[in-house]
Amino acid sequence: PVRVRFCPSPTGNPHVGLVRTALFNWAFARHHQGTLVFRIEDTDAARDSEESYEQLLDSMRWLGFDWDEGPEVGGPHAPYRQSQRMDIYKDVATKLLDAGHAYRCYCSQEELDARREAARAAGKPSGYDGHCRDLSDAQVEEYVAQGRRPIVRFRMPDETITFTDLVRGEITYLPENVPDYGIVRANGAPLYTLVNPVDDALMEITHVLRGEDLLSSTPRQIALYKALIELGVAKEIPAFGHLPYVMGEGNKKLSKRDPQSSLNLYRERGFLPEGLLNYLSLLGWSLSADQDIFTIDEMVAAFDVSDVNPNPARFDLKKCEAINADHIRLLEVKDFTERCRPWLKAPVAPWAPEDFDEAKWQAIAPHAQTRLKVLSEITDNVDFLFLPEPVFDEASWTKAMKEGSDALLRTAREKLDTADWTSPESLKEAVLAAGETHGLKLGKAQAPVRVAVTGRTVGLPLFESLEVLGKEKALTRIDAALA
Ligand code: GLU
Repeated sequence: PVRVRFCPSPTGNPHVGLVRTALFNWAFARHHQGTLVFRIEDTDAARDSEESYEQLLDSMRWLGFDWDEGPEVGGPHAPYRQSQRMDIYKDVATKLLDAGHAYRCYCSQEELDARREAARAAGKPSGYDGHCRDLSDAQVEEYVAQGRRPIVRFRMPDETITFTDLVRGEITYLPENVPDYGIVRANGAPLYTLVNPVDDALMEITHVLRGEDLLSSTPRQIALYKALIELGVAKEIPAFGHLPYVMGEGNKKLSKRDPQSSLNLYRERGFLPEGLLNYLSLLGWSLSADQDIFTIDEMVAAFDVSDVNPNPARFDLKKCEAINADHIRLLEVKDFTERCRPWLKAPVAPWAPEDFDEAKWQAIAPHAQTRLKVLSEITDNVDFLFLPEPVFDEASWTKAMKEGSDALLRTAREKLDTADWTSPESLKEAVLAAGETHGLKLGKAQAPVRVAVTGRTVGLPLFESLEVLGKEKALTRIDAALA
């Protein structure tokens, strides 16, 4: 049975790279009717926070992910927060030391740096040189007497490590490129290098799908796994698949600090989880060459990690928005009207709560649904309905109110006064006729009307907007523009 894991560290806002990793693991688990383990890697007390942890869970739920084992759900390998598993790591570290798979390393940072520099200068591999691998008792005593506090270092076997990456195919690491590495700090705190594979082993993870940035830790983990199998801690080495880098602006890796990478930003702007996930799935994967828009169920049905493209994927905000727009169109109207709610009230909406009119909202919503890229755009698009007066911006006003627009507005007002306000078609006829009187095509003729009534040069379809706003208010606004 497939067992995969999603194991973020709660260090700040979740970012889109993390979401993509979660998505691929989730889709893989669901496709294979396997188990998704959600583990919190919070062993770095200095960087992890409870707030980030809560945010992480909230984000996962908002995206619609569920997990079979993990926080709030529990499971046979609980606890799923590494901060609560410290005894386990201590125990494994002791076993590794006792069996000789790890050793205490007394080198100071200065000594390590100096020797690394020297190796570099001599054109030799600059990783850890094995200085403390086989210290005599006397040497150890001397170091201890000097007050040195050792770290625990894993002893890499002197052998070539080859594995078949699920995304990249066969990968080989030569021993000189994978030096011995630290697994426990001098203060006794276990490191990612230890806790991550130990938990993968104990939680019986079968497939490790994670970002390419972690590729170089895989040969170390495979070696550690072999030791854990020997010690009876692990059963089998999992398969590894490394997902391609996500590139941002200027073809640089999208970093956590990049504002574009913050998941919260997408939530606040009103991306739909289904739109965002559809887009993120395309960062390394595709359903088919000619279908960019699909549901999460379609993805799950088709997802195979061997189809993931190893080449770096470019994050394209425009495309992300376009895909989101398509998902907005796909919603049931009723669903759309409900999902817009956060942007129709305080603190986002500028109108007084009592000025919001549910019937008007229901009437305008279908016209908005065909136009938004992200839900947050709804506020500006419907504010003319709920504010006592439209918000005029200087630029729109001067753009629409040219010479002759007064005369046009006057004619339009007359014709609109006798039009049928239950019919957008009739309202259009009125403005069309007013335009004809002044030698203007519909587009030119409707601009001043639109600005007078909505305050903007662009927006929802004008005649439907007029109908929903109502005759009295619309004509009063035209009068005000003429005054
Ligand atoms: N906690 C690690 C991270 O957030 C997990 C890496 C892994 O998947 O092995 O990057």
